[in-house]
Amino acid sequence: MKKHNFYAGPSILPDQALEATAEALKDFDGTGVSLASISHRSKQFDAVIKEAQDLIKELLGVPEGYHVLFLGGGASTQFAMVPFNLMNKKAAYLNTGAWSKKAVKEAKLFGEVVEFKNEDFNAIPKGWEKEVPSDVDYVHITTNNTIYGTEIFEDFDFDVPVIADMSSDIMSRPVDVSKYGIIYGGAQKNLAPSGVTFVIIREDILGKVEREIPTMLNYKTHIEKESLFNTPPVIPIFTLMQTLRWVKENGGVEAMQKRADEKAGMLYDEIDRNKLFKGTVAKEDRSKMNICFVMNEEYQELEKAFMEYATERNMVGIKGHRSVGGFRASNYNALPKESIEALVKAMQDFEKENA
Ligand SMILES: *Cc1c(COP(=O)(O)O)cnc(C)c1O
Repeated sequence: MKKHNFYAGPSILPDQALEATAEALKDFDGTGVSLASISHRSKQFDAVIKEAQDLIKELLGVPEGYHVLFLGGGASTQFAMVPFNLMNKKAAYLNTGAWSKKAVKEAKLFGEVVEFKNEDFNAIPKGWEKEVPSDVDYVHITTNNTIYGTEIFEDFDFDVPVIADMSSDIMSRPVDVSKYGIIYGGAQKNLAPSGVTFVIIREDILGKVEREIPTMLNYKTHIEKESLFNTPPVIPIFTLMQTLRWVKENGGVEAMQKRADEKAGMLYDEIDRNKLFKGTVAKEDRSKMNICFVMNEEYQELEKAFMEYATERNMVGIKGHRSVGGFRASNYNALPKESIEALVKAMQDFEKENA
């Protein structure tokens, strides 16, 4: 029986993208060869990577002057690649949780980090953008905080490049790409199986640091070779392209946003209504992608029982991240409304039986 899949990452992907991948693993595009066994320089794979780049550009409205790259190493490698390529002396980081914290740690290897944060990570700091010194090389933000369940819905205006980790909310809503120097992320949250990292980069922000940069960590290498300097993650790129086709067929990022708003709204309404549960972050900053909640104080001892209750009803992946506990239901693009309805129903029934 198919499960309601609330995993935070790797996570649910459209059936049609997975089926197309399964098919291509047997026979890729009528070549008589598996997708796993074909040259990344074959014309058939070249068509896949080009279509994936074009779909990202089309769906997000990427302006001229930007490149779309598919790399290895995960978002975690970008934490170091960004300062390696862009930091001369100083950069500003909005630290909104566990992932931003890791990005800050890497940046400190290259220079001074001006950090803005709210210690509890249960809300996005307000007004911080006015405090950013004018002499920073760039500003780094994490738009969706997968672990704490907060999200930034605003595209900030700065005179320096804005670099955004959008690992867990890419393609879930429109963004004004022209306001960013780099948008990057691990694709395993909303687009693909793990193994591929997407980078949308404005070329003219490069070339401003003096240091030598190792070939593989230099964005220029991958721009020049169009993501084929070394062997890219062929299978994840194929699934990513199929997922993007699905996004397009289903109305693009505006439609994804509408779906996410509706589904997230249903679950947050239940969290707020139900006597047993409560949300963990400021309402205005609630993530549409990762919905975090806990048992109310007086019902703490029911946490394990609810987890089992949900498991019996075919739900997987609602355990909160090990660093915060409680529950987390991830609401990525491919999650059907029925899964949210099933979770809401389980919360209602559990309340009837226990409160
Ligand atoms: C999952 C995640 C990462 C880490 O991605 P890897 O590809 O595993 O390195 C970084 N940032 C955010 C916001 C994430 O959700």
